[in-house]
Amino acid sequence: GSDTHARVPLRPAVQALPPYVPGARPTPGEQLWKLSSNENPYGPLPSVIDAITRAATETNRYPDMYATELVEALASFVGVAPEQVVVGNGSVAVLAHLLSAVVDPGRDEVVFPWRSFEAYPIAVAVAGGRAVTVPLAEGGRLDLPAMAAAVTDRTSVVLVCTPNNPTGPVVHADELDALLAAVPSDVMVVIDEAYLEFVRDADAPDALALLARHENVVLLRTLSKAYGLAGLRVGYALAAPHLAAGIRAVSTPFGVSHVAQAAALASLAPAAQAELMQRVDALVAERTRVLDALVAQGWDLPASQANFVWLPLGERTTRCAAEARAAGVLVRPFAGDGLRVSIGETEANDAFLEVARGWIA
Ligand code: PMP
Repeated sequence: GSDTHARVPLRPAVQALPPYVPGARPTPGEQLWKLSSNENPYGPLPSVIDAITRAATETNRYPDMYATELVEALASFVGVAPEQVVVGNGSVAVLAHLLSAVVDPGRDEVVFPWRSFEAYPIAVAVAGGRAVTVPLAEGGRLDLPAMAAAVTDRTSVVLVCTPNNPTGPVVHADELDALLAAVPSDVMVVIDEAYLEFVRDADAPDALALLARHENVVLLRTLSKAYGLAGLRVGYALAAPHLAAGIRAVSTPFGVSHVAQAAALASLAPAAQAELMQRVDALVAERTRVLDALVAQGWDLPASQANFVWLPLGERTTRCAAEARAAGVLVRPFAGDGLRVSIGETEANDAFLEVARGWIA
């Protein structure tokens, strides 16, 4: 009644959500290297800035709702049918949408590794799914046999993060084949390939071939990392047409802005591709240099195939992050567990290596 002061209740699942703590940002005017969000240190290509500028003059109009041109460009770039491509406002949005398309709230379980991408527990809870977390194996690797064993008749989705954020290793093709053989074909297996372009391990799976062979496989990709468009928010899923249609049906209308669509399209042009992949090669070379330097300092580290490294500092994690900040470097601490440090500019990486030298166990 009007005389009571009861507050609008939030859903219990929402009240219990863990926070998503974004990587620290410099405050205006602060000169700090930003190695806290796995971003690309290179600025946008001139051709991408041109496309953004041209698109900016048309922002009184809604974008193409289904990003038809971008979807077709992605489909031909990847080698799938356009019906298999769904774009969204970053791959986190696509993940939220695909969960809401298949998870029966209050009933279904979603199996995912932990520690992994911190958006997973949040997205699963928001979709009404029950989180079934499977601890990582030795060396920050996913434990795929344990993940397969965690699947029950209530499981609707299994999330596989490869390379795993924040630890960095990839799953191997034979392990993933075994998981797909063990999991019933009516369980969706999402392979989150946010860092795909940085992978150089010959034992890594060919996820696209798995998509062709298994109707329940969905690939999640992004233009935020290798393509350097984190600020514009473009991600996509590759899935069987009926799943892609379901994800599209629950997606936020006009979810990818006109400017973002234009920038993504420009990034897929062959000349832009070539230049972007050269930058990725340089970042991979820098990753090798940083990992080698850390090993030479005495660190025992996961074999990262992504654009970051993981220092298992345990209880010392937040203190190390504070010292890095004092030394001019923003990194991403996961309290009590470890420090994730993105591969950035050579000078930034060197500044971090100087800090790391003082923290060998
Ligand atoms: N998946 C993983 C494993 C990630 O690390 C990230 C970015 N932190 C994403 C998905 C989401 O990227 P975006 O929403 O920018 O596409």
